[in-house]
Amino acid sequence: MTALVLGHKNPDTDSIVSALSATNLYRGRGIDVKPVAQGTPAPETAFVLERFNLTAPEVVTSVADQEVYLVDYSDLAQAPDDFAKCKLLGIIDHHKLGDVTSDSPVEVTIKPVGCSNTVIKELHDYYNVEINPSLAGAMLCAILSDTVLFKSPTCTEADKKAAYDLAKIAGVEDLQALGMEMFKAKSNLAGASARDLIFRDFKDFDMSGTKVGIGQLELVSLSLVTPELKAQLQEELNKVKSEGRHSALLVVTDIMEEGSELLMCSDNGELIAKALNTTVSDKMWMPGVMSRKKQVVPNLEQAFKA
Ligand code: MN
Ligand code: MN
Repeated sequence: MTALVLGHKNPDTDSIVSALSATNLYRGRGIDVKPVAQGTPAPETAFVLERFNLTAPEVVTSVADQEVYLVDYSDLAQAPDDFAKCKLLGIIDHHKLGDVTSDSPVEVTIKPVGCSNTVIKELHDYYNVEINPSLAGAMLCAILSDTVLFKSPTCTEADKKAAYDLAKIAGVEDLQALGMEMFKAKSNLAGASARDLIFRDFKDFDMSGTKVGIGQLELVSLSLVTPELKAQLQEELNKVKSEGRHSALLVVTDIMEEGSELLMCSDNGELIAKALNTTVSDKMWMPGVMSRKKQVVPNLEQAFKA
């Protein structure tokens, strides 16, 4: 049986490229796998795939009776709804350990680095599996995306080393230029509805029994969010909250200013704002906040525990 290599819901560049690069790794080890994804590529990912001549993974919404390797997550909330009916074979990730489980031993590599593709690059070295230039270029982009051009507090020396090794294979000399091109593609808001923008990179979290949904939008400038768009986003967040969540947040990150503006609709806005070191107002700016995983989620989990 061909096993599936599957990233998370609302796939980002790391998630999609990880499906491709982990497939290369497993195939290099003689394991029969194919890359799949829980959605089509967002604009940033589409740019990366086109730039390096790669094809987007087939979209799947069900994994019942399949064998599955997870990449870039281990949370049930980010897996297909019928995940319990599949056979989990392995996980490669760089997030906090999630709540998936298995009925037999699994191969797991989870490291506290900035990107799943950093882990996957290290595993290629470990197993001595070759990476071709176009795949290397896409893996480099995934690292630049997840670490926000090495500026995110999640970025480690291992990420930089993997990125420079991959750049060499891909023949990329100017990493910053490639990264900026990618973030400009990501910043293209044209034609997207407020709902599309909120769900482009959105994750639900179970915080001590409370459902909190957090989207993040990374832009080269906050000025791209006009007052009209901001009002639309706020209105849509109210709807997203009403769909069974205690809180719906959108973290709008300015990658050049290195900070984020918080938009939210919550049953307890004071609690959220306080946890994120800001105060409820029309413009909730959070200086230095670039990482949902490291600077938003842990603070909120702590606040909901108390
Ligand atoms: Mn991801
Ligand atoms: Mn990632």
